[in-house]
Formats: sequence, structure tokens, C-alpha cells
Amino acid sequence: MKWLHGWLAKQPLSAKLKMANLVTSGTVIVLSSIFLLFLQAWLSIHALLDRTRTDAMMTSENLAVAMVFQDRKSAQDILSFLHASRAIQSAWVYDKHGKLFADYHRSGVPASPDPAPEALPAGRAGERISWKQVGWHQAFNYQGEPLGTILVLADVNILYTQLLSYIGMLVLLLAASLTLANLALTRIQALITQPLQSLSHTAGEISERGDFSIRAKVHPGGDIGRMAQTFNTMLDRIQRREVELTEEISQRERVQKQLDYLAHFDNVTGLHNRHYFNEQLELTVGRACRLQQCAALIFIDLDNFKTFNDTLGHATGDEVLRIVAQRVSHTVRADDVLSRVGGDEFAIIVRDIPDVQLAERVAQKFLEALAAPVFIGGTEIFISASIGISVCPDDATDMQDLLKYADSAMYHAKNSGKNGYCIFAPSMRGAAERRFAIEGSMRRALERNELQLLYQPKVDMLSGRIIGAEALVRWHSPELGLLGPHEFIPLAEETGMIIQIGEWVLRTACEQLKCWHDDGHRHLEMAVNLSGRQLREPNFVRQVEDVVARTGIDPRALELELTESMLMDAGNPTIEKLHALRSIGIGLAIDDFGTGYSSMSYLKMFPINTLKIDQSFVRDLPGDSGDCAIVQTILALAHNLQLQVVAEGIEKRGQADFLRTHGCGKAQGMLYGAPMTHEELARMLAAEALAGSGQGAQAT
Ligand code: C2E
Ligand code: MG
Ligand code: MG
Repeated sequence: MKWLHGWLAKQPLSAKLKMANLVTSGTVIVLSSIFLLFLQAWLSIHALLDRTRTDAMMTSENLAVAMVFQDRKSAQDILSFLHASRAIQSAWVYDKHGKLFADYHRSGVPASPDPAPEALPAGRAGERISWKQVGWHQAFNYQGEPLGTILVLADVNILYTQLLSYIGMLVLLLAASLTLANLALTRIQALITQPLQSLSHTAGEISERGDFSIRAKVHPGGDIGRMAQTFNTMLDRIQRREVELTEEISQRERVQKQLDYLAHFDNVTGLHNRHYFNEQLELTVGRACRLQQCAALIFIDLDNFKTFNDTLGHATGDEVLRIVAQRVSHTVRADDVLSRVGGDEFAIIVRDIPDVQLAERVAQKFLEALAAPVFIGGTEIFISASIGISVCPDDATDMQDLLKYADSAMYHAKNSGKNGYCIFAPSMRGAAERRFAIEGSMRRALERNELQLLYQPKVDMLSGRIIGAEALVRWHSPELGLLGPHEFIPLAEETGMIIQIGEWVLRTACEQLKCWHDDGHRHLEMAVNLSGRQLREPNFVRQVEDVVARTGIDPRALELELTESMLMDAGNPTIEKLHALRSIGIGLAIDDFGTGYSSMSYLKMFPINTLKIDQSFVRDLPGDSGDCAIVQTILALAHNLQLQVVAEGIEKRGQADFLRTHGCGKAQGMLYGAPMTHEELARMLAAEALAGSGQGAQAT
């Protein structure tokens, strides 16, 4: 049975359905045929029995006379009439003593042996049934006197023959009906299972090809049609989900790739970023120390990059960075690590070099690669860089120290006129340490009230009277001593601390101005230096207005000093800010005029009212004819544009005389007074007032 189950399980649904139907219909036909066969046999036997009974009864009535007269001949004749009944095979007549009186045997049939009356069943009449014969015995009498018994036997073989042909017919009928049923079932089953097969075929195709866009054919109506529809709806959902999943996965992959890229690459230049650079530097330093190999760190800072960036816009700035990256990537070996480590800072790690000369050659090639001018949007830009080199393990065996020293060497190169490189020397160590110490303690300088403002008097060149002062910041650090602005302002700009420092300077200077005004020096004005980063602050104008309002000064007494590079960097928002400041009466001066990218256009574009001639042009006056010409030109320009002029750094009377003669109105310099505390300036003012009143008294 188990194998049958196994075999059945392997058959397709159509075969199973057909088999189930054939077995059912076959069983019904076979069972009903068997029933009919038995019924037929039963009816035939009883018909035969009736026949023998009728013949036995009729014959016994006729036999009575022959028996009375013991006429065997007549009895034999009477029995021969049984020949008319085809089924009757033999007949036996016994007298009342049970002796055979007459018998009959159908001709052509072998005579049956005498069954003997005692073998007859009891009673006057009765049936006799066996596998071979069916018979009836009937006692007969005359006038109440028993005479004898007749036994009529019929041959059952006829019946068997009939039944056999009947069975044959039934078998034929069964075979024919099963064949017909099979044909009909094949057709019906095809109708039922074809949609199922198509559904299963579709499912197979989908799983094989993994293509969820395939759909099952829908046979309208019926369970399978609904099933196919549900199957398709399910596929729609799977397909949508698959599309979503695929999108989600590809998006994740994209994000992951981007994250990986961002983690190691700079997206402006495509070079490695600071993160990757730090990793590599740490590995390189470790390896160089372990294997006693030499490695160099080349630290590069583009010169005046902030100027291009702010003047020509960030897009141009980025383009410059990309061009630099492109040009210099050819100057390094595949093994060197070139990275962009900051805004305009690049670094190269050169591994396993024989000596520092090789690093020098890389730096030289870097500078040469930048030498040719760059054209962006029709503008010709000259790029240069200042480069610092430190070597491991000679200069440092620690990554941070190596960085610090390369940075120091770079500053050295910058201070030595830019566009060059400098190799770190132990003598720079102090300066490097100091720079990093400054950076470290600058954050606490404001909190610990370590900043101080000095005021350098500004005088009227004709009267020699103090007309105002420029506020100049100093830092009294307990750890580092007294620091001038050149030492910490650039660092404060880099770190962003300049915002807080600048705000403090402006407030303190305005508070001081207010004190002077309150003390009766109402004519004094205050000049405050600004840094580019302050001006870029979106709420800078509001900050200034706030300070002016809080301190209660007259805004016309305040002058903000800007540098040319700040103006060159200025975009529209900065120009708007400058106009806003001017509109409330605040003065704007260009500091160190002539040292930057002096351009006539911004004198028209910005609401400037003062030019401060840089001390570098004043220093050699009146001996240097070039400086004389420059100063005269600036004075003429200012005159034509109706701008005020302040000459800076006047140390000698000759300088002052030249400037006064050529129409310079205001002056600032050691000749008139070094930067001093407010108390010292107050004393100067008092002395001036005293001298003035003395002169006045003399005059009167
Ligand atoms: P600056 O605005 O051009 O200031 C003038 C500088 O020249 C001051 O240097 C001053 O001490 C110096 N000086 C004045 N008279 C003479 C002279 O006769 N001969 C010579 N050789 N130098 C003279 P200081 O105070 O070291 O300031 C340097 C620069 O630092 C300033 O140049 C200014 O650009 C910047 N700075 C100073 N204070 C601040 C500040 O509060 N904020 C910002 N952003 N920058 C400041
Ligand atoms: Mg200044
Ligand atoms: Mg200046």
C-alpha cells in the first residue's frame, strides 16, 4: 500500500483526478453488474424450479392411472411428453414402496444415475437444488390412496451458459463504459486542470527566471479564475515590493559608496581627505620609526586663496582647488599620499626617501606645477603656495609634532614672501610650540579677561591736534606673555574665535569713546579694525547697531577699518552691509591702502570715506621717489574722489612734512604717539587741552 501512496503522490493532478473518477465509476459498474448477475441467477433458478414443479405436477396427475394399472408403458409414454420442456433433463417415477416405476432421460444427454426416493427431501412435494441440477418431487395418489412420487430434474448447465454469456456482455459493457468514461474524463479533466497547469507553469517560470513581471492567464469566472486573479494581485504586490526593495538597496549602496567616498575623499578635488591623511600619516610615522626609514610631510597652503574665493565666488574658489589638485597630482609618485586637508591646505606624505632633498624636489615640482596662470571664466588667476616640510624621524617621531613642525615651516615660508618652501629647522621649534600654545589658550583669553585695547592717537596734520584714536588689541597671556595682534589675530580668524574677540573689541572701543565724549572730548573719533570673517557674519550690522545703541555713542564718531582683500572678497551681501553701516553714519576706511589688490573699481563700488596710506609707503618718504610718487597718487585720487586720507606709521618729521605739503589731512604714527592705554591717552588729551588753553591765553 505504501508504494501505491508513493506512486500516487508522484502522479500529476490530472492523472489523480482521472484515476479517482475511473475507480469510482468502475466500482459502481462492477458492483451493480455483480448484483444484476446474482439477481439474474436467482431468477433463472426459480424459473427453472417453477418449470420442474409445473411439469412434475401435471405429469403426476396423468401418471396416477398408469400407476393404478401398473402400466409401465403408459407411464413411460406420459413421461416422454417432458421432451417438450427443453430444460427438463430427466424424470423418475417411484411407486409407493419407493421402487422405480418409470424414468425419462432427454436424448443426447447421458443418463443420470437413479437418485433413489430416500434421497428425496421429506414431504409430499419439495424442491431439490444442487450445483448441477434443479428439481421438484411431487407425491401423487388416487382417491386418497398414495400411489407414488415423481421427481423431475432440470439441467443447470443451461443456466450457467446463459450466465456466462451474461457475464461476457457485462464485461464488454464495463470495458466500453470505462473507455467512454475515460475519454469523457480526459476532456473534462483537461478543462479543469488546464488553468491550474497554466497557473503552476507561470509560478514555475517566475521562480526560475526571478521575473515578477510575468502574469498568469486569467480564465474568467470560476474558482480557478479567481485564484489566478488573486495570484496576479499577489504578483503585483511582490513586483511593487521588489521594485521598492531594489530601489532601496541601490539607494543604500549609493549612500554607502558616498559615505565611503566622503570618509576618505574630498568631494571638491577628488583627492584624499584629512581623515585618510591622518590615518596614513600615523601609519607612516609608526613604520618609519620602526624600520628606521625616512619619511617627509609636505604641508602646503595656497597663497591669497581667501581672496580669490571671496572676490570671484566660491565656485571659482572650488575650480581653483580642482585645478591645483589636477596639476599637482602629476608631481607625486603613486606611493605618495596627496590629500586636501583643509580649505586651501594640501599635504603630501612622501614615504621611504633617502633624504630630505627628495621632499624638497617634490615641493619644488609642486610650485612649478602652479606657476602657469589659470583662466577661469575669462579671468587670469596666478596661484602660488607656501610650503613647509618636516621629516620623520629626524624632526619628530610623533604625528602631531610632525604636523606642527611642517605647519611652522609653512608659516616661515609665508612670512618670507610666499610662493616658496621651507624645511623645518630646530630653531623654529620654539615658534611652532608658541603657535600651538596660542591656539590652545586663546579660547580662555576672553573669559579670563586677558585682552586689552591700546589706543593710538590720530592727529590732524595741520593743527597737530588729536582728533581720534585707533583701537589696537593686545593679549596679556599669563603663560605666553604679551602678544601682539599679528601673533593671534590670524589664528583667531582660522579658528573662528575672531567673532567673539571682534565683538569684544568693538564694544570696549565704543565704551571708551563714550567715556571720552562724556569727559568733554566730543570731537574724538574711534577707528576699529575689522576682520573679513566678522564682515561675513550674517548679523554683523545688527551687532554693530546693538553696540552703538547700548553704549550710546554717536555713530558718526565710529570708523571701521577694512582691508583691500576684505573688499575684494566682498560679495553682494557684504556690499549691502557696508551701505547699511554707512546709512547710520558709521565711517568706513580702507586700511593699509596700496598693499593689496588695489583696484579703482571698489573705491566707486563701496561707500568708503577714508583711505589709510600704508606705513610701507611712508617709511622711506621723502627720500624714495617711488614712494613719493605712490603717496602723491593716492592723495590725488582721494582728493578727486573726496575721500579723507590718514597716513600711517609716521615716525619722522620729514615724513609728516612731505605728507602735509601734499595735502594729507590726518596722520598716525610714533611721531604723534605709540599705541597706549586709555589712561595715557587721557593724559595726552589733558596735556593737549592745557597747551591749547595756554596758546589760547597767549593769543588773547
Ligand atoms: P593696522 O590697523 O594697520 O594698525 C597699525 C599698526 O601699525 C599697529 O600695529 C601699530 O602699532 C603700528 N604702528 C603705529 N605707528 C607706527 C609707526 O610709527 N611705525 C611702525 N612701524 N608701526 C606703527 P599693531 O597694533 O601690532 O597692529 C597690527 C595690525 O593688527 C593692525 O594693523 C591691524 O590690522 C591688526 N589689528 C590690531 N588690532 C586689531 C583688532 O582689534 N581687530 C583686528 N581685526 N585686527 C587688529
Ligand atoms: Mg588699522
Ligand atoms: Mg594699517
